[in-house]
Parts: sequence; structure tokens; C-alpha cells
Amino acid sequence: MSALAKNYNRRKIAFKRGRGSFLYATNGKKYLDFVQGIAVNSLGHANQNLIRAINKQSKKVWHVSNAFIIPEGEMLAKRLAQKTFADNVIFQNSGTEATEAAIKIARRYFYSKGKPNKNRILCIKNSFHGRTIAAIFASGSKKMTQGFGPKVPGFDHIEFRKFKPRFPNIRSKIKKNTAAIMVETVMGEGGIKPIPDKCLKYLRKICNEKKILLILDEVQCGIGRTGDFFAFEKSKVKPDIVPIAKGIGGGFPLGAVLMTKKVAKSMIPGSHGSTFGGNPLAMSVGNAVLDQIFKKGFFNNLKKISKYFYKELYKLQKDYPNIIKEIRGKGLLIGIQLYFDQSNFIKSLEKNYLLTIRAAENVIRILPPLNVKKNEIDLALKIIKKVCREYK
Ligand SMILES: *Cc1c(COP(=O)(O)O)cnc(C)c1O
Repeated sequence: MSALAKNYNRRKIAFKRGRGSFLYATNGKKYLDFVQGIAVNSLGHANQNLIRAINKQSKKVWHVSNAFIIPEGEMLAKRLAQKTFADNVIFQNSGTEATEAAIKIARRYFYSKGKPNKNRILCIKNSFHGRTIAAIFASGSKKMTQGFGPKVPGFDHIEFRKFKPRFPNIRSKIKKNTAAIMVETVMGEGGIKPIPDKCLKYLRKICNEKKILLILDEVQCGIGRTGDFFAFEKSKVKPDIVPIAKGIGGGFPLGAVLMTKKVAKSMIPGSHGSTFGGNPLAMSVGNAVLDQIFKKGFFNNLKKISKYFYKELYKLQKDYPNIIKEIRGKGLLIGIQLYFDQSNFIKSLEKNYLLTIRAAENVIRILPPLNVKKNEIDLALKIIKKVCREYK
């Protein structure tokens, strides 16, 4: 009997080690891991460069308070700022802390402008921003908020419909007291739904018009996952605040909020903090992840391999039109939407040694490491095809 609470329905499988795209289970079997901790292990398991970085740092200093200068964090912040829209960074330990901080920063910005009542955040209904008490009410999902009342005020919601992606009625949802619009650039848990570039542009336009802030949650879709460093890059939209986490730590807990100096100005000493956020161990791993992701050719390779993956998945959809409803995604954030509940399909994939994970709307989520090899994609395709054949 497990002493753990039952807030997870865990699969009956455990692992003794991993390497790259593979996990070796205690049952002696080898699994192709296309979950990777849900887009966390961006460079696969037991990456030699990350191991070296954390080992090296672990012999120097593990933790000092943010009351002191942390050179590894100074460096990571500088690199993130140089490579992105951002001027400033606050480090956290997780995605939900990063989205919470993003909300705080947006509110603080208007507070410092003498508009403390301008504090409402407009979000997409049934999105996902994490599990803290504010983040669940930001998502507005009944499943996540049930039993956790009283309702946290300050959040309004719009619907996102794939075929009406222009956000009808959004103007009527922006009130005098709206401070920011916060959306996931690609809705992950919600079923791998990218917000089209023209809609991101539209959101930016409205934010400019109404003089409110745009927060793009890139916790799952950021850090190379979609083939660019950020999922919004191709749209050329410049957000004000971007929470990140998952992939930046390569498996080590690390979150951050990136922002322009305009909004960062209000975050004066004492306005926000974190004991563990920005600790030297996390920072050294974050730097090592960037070392690899920013290597020449990394994104080209990633784009090439994901293009190949989609091409083959579309073929599969054609071959099994009664099973596969839609192939969704961007880069290596991939969803296969079925016509029926996906649970048994995911189980069958696992029986064939391919690990995947669910998302909403009958979607099977596929998240290979960003340095996945072509032969590993081929192996996954072979297994998916085999399970499709069995379903026919
Ligand atoms: C996973 C996720 C979060 C929450 O991250 P945690 O590290 O689990 O707190 C927030 N936003 C998005 C878009 C996510 O995918």
C-alpha cells in the first residue's frame, strides 16, 4: 500500500534509469519515452552535459539566499534577455509559481501607475496555468476548482474555439479594471491547441488599444518545444510578460518570469521573492540547457525532424480515418486526437513500449525530447501504426 495520497492515478510502472529518449523500467523492459516528464526533459534523460553541469555546481555551492548575488543566475537571466523580448527575469521553481508571479507583476504594474483597481486578468476558459489557488481560478476549469472555494476573484474568461479563433466578444470582456490578457500560446493540457499567429496579433492589437498587458504562458510550449525558442516567435508579437518553466530546467525544477523593463520597474525590493527560486544548482542546469539549445543547427534539426513526424502522422491519419480525427500541434508538441476516449489507446501504446500522455478532447500527447533521433520517431510511428491496426 502506498503512503502517498491518491491525487494521481498512477500507472503501475517505475523506472530505474533513463538515457536519451528511453526509460528502463524495474520490470526489465525498455520504453520509448515520449512523455519526458511532460515536456520537462527537453534534452532527454541522463544528458551528459547536464550531468556535468550539476555535478560541478554541486561541489561548489548548492544554495544561497537571494539576499546575495548569484552569478549563475545573473548569467542565465542575461542570456534569456539577450535571446528574447525580455529585459528582466525573476526566477521561480515551477510553472505555477511563474504564472502566479506573472499575475502579480501585471497587477503591480498598474498599482505603481496609481491604478490599483485595474487588476482583473482575462483568461481562456479551461486553459491551464498550474495548480495554485489563483492559477486554478485563472483557468476557470470546473474540474480543477471544484471543492477549492471560495472562488478567487479577479479573473474573467473568454472561450477559445478553434474554428472561431478571432475571440468574438473579447472587447465586451475587457472592462475598465482589466489589467492583462493571459493565454497559453499553445494550449497544452487543453488538447494541444495552438493559438494561430493572426489571433496572437489580434490579442496584441487589443492590448495596445486598451493599454493593458499581454501575458503569454509558455511554460509547456516554450524553450524550443515548438521549433522556435518561444511558440509566439513566428507571429512577431511582443508580449509584456512570459512565464516559463518545464523545459528550461531539463528535468531540474526551474521556473521564471520574463518581462519588459516597463513592467519590471514596479517590482521594487521586497515586492516579490522566493527562497529557492534562482538557486545555483537550478541556474547551472538552466545555463547548460541553453548551451545546447543555442548550438548552431539545433532548431533547424528540430524543425526538420518534427516536419517529418507530422508528414508520417498525416499519412497514418489517412490510413486510419475512423480512428484518428486530427493531428494537432507545433514542433514537438504534438497531439493525436481520436474519435473516442484515448485511455485504452494509450495503454496499448504502453504495452508496446511507447509512453505517451493524455490531454483534453481525446488527445494523445506526444512530447519527445528536443534532440530526438529519426530512428526513434520511426520506432514510435511503427508502434502507433501497430496499435491502430489492432483497433481496426
Ligand atoms: C505545466 C504548466 C503549468 C504549471 O507548471 P507546474 O510546474 O506544474 O506548476 C502552467 N502553465 C502551463 C501552460 C503548463 O503546461
